[in-house]
Amino acid sequence: MYAMMDQSREGRELMAIMLKSAYDIVLHWFRHERVRLHFLRMVSENLTGPEEKGTGVGLLMFLSFLEQYGIGVAVGGSGMLTKALIDCIEDHGGKVTANVSVERVLVKDGRAVGVRAAGGQEFMAKEAVIGALHPHVLPKFVPEMDPAAARAAQQTEITANCVLTIHAALNEPLKFKAGDHVGRAMMIELLPDRVDVLREHFDDLRYGRLPRHSLIGLGSASNLDPTRVPPGKAIMHAWDYVPYEHPDGGAARWDELKIPFAERMLEKMRAYIPNLTSANIIKYHCDSPLDMERTSPSFLRGDIHGVAPYLYQFGAHRPTPDLGQNTVPGVERLYLVGPFQHPGGGVFGAGRGTAMRMCSDLKIDFDKVVKGAK
Ligand SMILES: Cc1cc2nc3c(=O)[nH]c(=O)nc-3n(C[C@H](O)[C@H](O)[C@H](O)COP(=O)(O)OP(=O)(O)OC[C@H]3O[C@@H](n4cnc5c(N)ncnc54)[C@H](O)[C@@H]3O)c2cc1C
Repeated sequence: MYAMMDQSREGRELMAIMLKSAYDIVLHWFRHERVRLHFLRMVSENLTGPEEKGTGVGLLMFLSFLEQYGIGVAVGGSGMLTKALIDCIEDHGGKVTANVSVERVLVKDGRAVGVRAAGGQEFMAKEAVIGALHPHVLPKFVPEMDPAAARAAQQTEITANCVLTIHAALNEPLKFKAGDHVGRAMMIELLPDRVDVLREHFDDLRYGRLPRHSLIGLGSASNLDPTRVPPGKAIMHAWDYVPYEHPDGGAARWDELKIPFAERMLEKMRAYIPNLTSANIIKYHCDSPLDMERTSPSFLRGDIHGVAPYLYQFGAHRPTPDLGQNTVPGVERLYLVGPFQHPGGGVFGAGRGTAMRMCSDLKIDFDKVVKGAK
């Protein structure tokens, strides 16, 4: 890729953008503090500080992607997307079994042939096994994998920027000081007044400190999808960035300290949304980075994108060059999916890449399968 880019002026320019930080580029391209903040805040949504070298490419990806395609939101909530996928599998004769914890990928003659669940039950595969197995635990599931690839997988870096979220049921829709148009946005960022505040937030996270400022983002999906709530009511979700290890006693302390943190977030949000009062909040649920880890083994140490989006863990090198093709060296017919694979965390339909790779190995015409599904 780099050799190809190096062959033209445009390619070399793109290469430089990729290697620089978003901050380097925004400082060079834009003068206005608000414009700079707008771009830098969006880049940081990828769970990395905008001063990290290698975040420059995020400038070309995030905002342009959102401007071009918007944000897809499932009517009825994300669970409806899962339900639609299950319906599709079942419609094609497949079966989905939930609440089974897999402990081991079964390998015979260098090929994945099934999985063993906790309790010993085995599920045999006809053609292949697909796993959302985090690189840190992959060797535990597949001790047969190439030892050098296993070592590299276990050394992948997890982000320092975790998320604490609030999910609230509201008596009435949010009223924004800035005007009603704000509520029609899917993603709302409460920007600080200076770029330096944003920089300091990520500096604090780098040192494992509780940030001195807030970088709160929020959305109120019921403004766009009324099926989520009874008539007149509303929902809201909000997030801020925190370290996985609480400075006052480690990750386990979040169980006690997440509610006081959430209360402070709500207080700060009232400066922008006056009716976010306790009378308006029917009830809220709060998840700390520790809760995220409990939600899915993909979110180890609270990294909701699996592993950090550093340039060296990006593209075909995500999570490592060995695993970047969604396959596992040393074991055939074992395929990887998950936020730690390319293109990273997010509901992108990223399993498509794995499906393409599997189809190629199994001599199935991928384009024909996709056309048939339309
Ligand atoms: C709070 C939060 C907010 C987010 N916001 C956004 C957003 O606004 N937009 C966006 O695009 N993305 C967002 N994301 C990221 C997105 O949700 C994830 O990237 C996405 O869920 C990854 O999907 P996945 O199916 O690859 O992995 P997962 O959702 O992690 O699913 C993996 C599944 O495999 C199962 N599994 C793993 N190991 C085993 C095992 N050994 N045995 C049995 N089952 C196993 C897990 O239980 C889990 O069900 C957010 C994530 C969080 C947590």
